[in-house]
Amino acid sequence: MLVEGLKCINCGEIFSPDPKFFVCPKCGFEKVKGITVFKGITEVVYNYEEIGEMVSKKLFSKRPFNALRYRELLGFQKKEKLLTLGEGGTPLLKSKKLAKKFKIKNLLLKIEAQNPTGSFKDRESLLAVNKALQFGKKSVSCVSSGNAAASLAAYAARAGLDCFVFMPATASKGKVSQCSVHGAKTFLVNGIYEEIFEVYLEAVKDF
Ligand SMILES: [Zn+2]
Repeated sequence: MLVEGLKCINCGEIFSPDPKFFVCPKCGFEKVKGITVFKGITEVVYNYEEIGEMVSKKLFSKRPFNALRYRELLGFQKKEKLLTLGEGGTPLLKSKKLAKKFKIKNLLLKIEAQNPTGSFKDRESLLAVNKALQFGKKSVSCVSSGNAAASLAAYAARAGLDCFVFMPATASKGKVSQCSVHGAKTFLVNGIYEEIFEVYLEAVKDF
């Protein structure tokens, strides 16, 4: 197993990598100044020894230059069939003016806008949607001010999963359109991110 489990950053307990929840059920959430925040965020525990035996610089260099070049480091097996839209492998652009301003000899900017839906969020959608498929889930959802929702919507569409996105009513029309075009059920909610997150948590619990 390349992924040993999900570890709560608060209490340290390690759970099955096939979660029934997205925060530690013991620690959950807490209120800070009336706003719900994560207390029991879980992080992935990788088996680096096993991964180390499987990968090498030489192996990576033989593969196409995209996010899945490093698939074992993302917890995916070598031969595993994965859904991809060709994310990652974005170019580096040498910056001259910023480098001069900050007195940096060699400053390179990574052009993440060249990802399939126009943002680096495609890297996380790659993982989220492939894991959802592996775990037999039928839908995915998120709260987002724009880019993450647009990205998740595109990957869910390719995967044939239902997608529910919660965005601020003030989200850019372009991002809302991206979600709709990909068939995501898009909820525009009045309020700031934290307030929308509360609505989202209730919706996840109920549905
Ligand atoms: Zn915990």
